[in-house]
Amino acid sequence: MKTILIEGKTVEDWKKEYPLLNELIATKEVFWTNPKHELFHSGIKKTALNEKDVKDAEERLKRFAPYIAKVFPETRKSDGIIESPIVKIPSMKQQLEQIHDLHVSGEFLLKCDSHLPISGSIKARGGIYEVLKTAEQLLIEQQMLTLKDDYSIIDDEKFRNFLSKYSISVGSTGNLGLSIGIMSAKMGFSVTVHMSADAKQWKKDLLRSKGVKVIEYKEDYSKAVEEGRKQANSQPNCHFIDDENSSDLFLGYTVAASRLKKQLEDLNITVDEDHPLFVYLPCGVGGGPGGVAFGLKLIFQDHVHCFFAEPTHSPCMLLGLVTGLHDKVSVQDLGIDNLTAADGLAVGRPSRFVGQTIEPFLSGSYTVSDTEMYKLLSAMIDTENIRLEPSALASVFGPIQLFKEQEGKEYLKKHDLEGKMKNATHIMWATGGSMVPNEVMEEYYKKGLE
Ligand SMILES: *Cc1c(COP(=O)(O)O)cnc(C)c1O
Repeated sequence: MKTILIEGKTVEDWKKEYPLLNELIATKEVFWTNPKHELFHSGIKKTALNEKDVKDAEERLKRFAPYIAKVFPETRKSDGIIESPIVKIPSMKQQLEQIHDLHVSGEFLLKCDSHLPISGSIKARGGIYEVLKTAEQLLIEQQMLTLKDDYSIIDDEKFRNFLSKYSISVGSTGNLGLSIGIMSAKMGFSVTVHMSADAKQWKKDLLRSKGVKVIEYKEDYSKAVEEGRKQANSQPNCHFIDDENSSDLFLGYTVAASRLKKQLEDLNITVDEDHPLFVYLPCGVGGGPGGVAFGLKLIFQDHVHCFFAEPTHSPCMLLGLVTGLHDKVSVQDLGIDNLTAADGLAVGRPSRFVGQTIEPFLSGSYTVSDTEMYKLLSAMIDTENIRLEPSALASVFGPIQLFKEQEGKEYLKKHDLEGKMKNATHIMWATGGSMVPNEVMEEYYKKGLE
């Protein structure tokens, strides 16, 4: 039998070097703190992106707001700004503490990207942003639009006709396809979504009903992206939204941070030296959680502690970070199957761009079993009456792991946080769920009760 080599070494060699891999391969729940995490001011020198890039994305979304408000009436009450609510979840906290027989200091908040308008997931940030940026560039080049215009003029047959000569294409496990498909179709683009086997039927049906071309694959996300990229490259006038490498997509996500800052101020929640902020972000290929975490670090610097969450069967970003291999390794290389109920996180190979960008800033990462995600899903409905898709629940396990696991306790000690945890805020990023059909949600709920 031929031995698989990963960057010249066998899996056995890699396991010897990084014993955590044994637990990952056994699909155990793990908690890992990042040895490359450093102080903000030294970490920021290592990245190509900065505050100016984030500001630019923020300004672009403001320019588009009048258009968004016009074509998506559900965004009118926020004047065309696509933003989600943040809510306190004290009953869920109590329930978690009871189940795990553990006291967690600090307040629990849920950031409900599940309820973002237009496409009901975190992808309504990055995905929609990149479509808008692409359209803006084309329209400005064509002198159909200037930066000073009221962008609501884009809602017009003339603009849709022009954009219909261009196509947009993307590979997705479901939610990115939803965001990009809905937005592109609305603007008049011809749009193709390459869907991995994980993608839920209702997501494909919804897209087709909006005139989006959906191509299905029997393989996982990496294959859908690869095929999408290949087909897009062979077509003229086609923009491929590259979830594995796109800095535009990433920047669309970063804008969440300044919006969150304002929401915390409105709730009279302080974040400073004595009031640490912990944020738990479900991670697939990395762009969503990476972009949000990067934006948060720019604002709150060393006072915010960001953790990624992945399914035990798809721990791609963790694997890439632990080994430093990033996209040179997939979970399948280690014999992990990448099969999970958390379809938004079913990714076997992480983004190198995101892994390298986030490496100096990320506090750590952990994995969650599907069973745990389902249990949390039902508990969130029972205690707070909030309906989320399985992926989103990976975030909710974070504070438990931080307080329960030895590495978590050591993290708090090392950063001199133990005495400050009573003033801490824990934000679980609920990345999707409001568009899940009732009958599908009912099934999820029942699974969680079992
Ligand atoms: C896509 C997605 C994520 C993770 O985002 P990535 O950019 O793939 O890391 C998390 N939760 C849900 C529900 C998603 O759809």
